[in-house]
Amino acid sequence: MTRLLFREDAYQQSCAARVISVQDRGVELDQTVFYATSGGQAGDCGVLRCGDGREIPVTTTIKDRESGRYLHMIADGHDLPDTGSSIEAMLDWETRYRHMRFHTCLHLLCAVIDGSVTGGNIASHKSRLDFDIPDTVPDKDALTDQINALIARNARVFDGEISEAELRANPELVRTMSVSPPMDGGVIRTITIEGIDYQPCGGTHVRQTSEIGKIIVAKIEKKGRQNRRINIVFDE
Ligand SMILES: [Zn+2]
Repeated sequence: MTRLLFREDAYQQSCAARVISVQDRGVELDQTVFYATSGGQAGDCGVLRCGDGREIPVTTTIKDRESGRYLHMIADGHDLPDTGSSIEAMLDWETRYRHMRFHTCLHLLCAVIDGSVTGGNIASHKSRLDFDIPDTVPDKDALTDQINALIARNARVFDGEISEAELRANPELVRTMSVSPPMDGGVIRTITIEGIDYQPCGGTHVRQTSEIGKIIVAKIEKKGRQNRRINIVFDE
């Protein structure tokens, strides 16, 4: 099992780790700061620095569906580290921080749109959520202003946990129909944006909404009869 350091501190950019197995092109570590693709958030990239100074590029991180192992995927043409060796795992922090800002922003979007989430994606240059809102088309500019006002409140973002039983008793907490919240031994991680949003979530977030920076609702697309896709970019 890999200790998931990003759950304890999303701002940790590197860690010392030991290689516990190598599966094909995937390297499993005893602990990691790399987030694995899930809940629409892209897996982290970066490098593994070996004891001899060699730097091995990680193109993405995944959680293997069958084995449940967290695998750091190594690009073709690069040597793999030896099982049992010590390395330093170093994030591409610039990309990951953009994911954190976008991810937190999507919680704000969730808070202002009244409808179930049917899909979503978080990348470094843009992100989106799809909502089941058949009868209403939100106004792009009004939505931009609404979200920027929440960002400017500089609300605190913090995590907590609830039990599976509590979540079952309060199904309205789960906003997404497409992603089930991460269950770690009957305990589910929750994210609170003070006074704005509360929901189960296993992603990485910033500590204060002001860190998101100004955003623009780039476009709102109709996807099928019911769904509206809301795309967000940074105002930069
Ligand atoms: Zn989240």
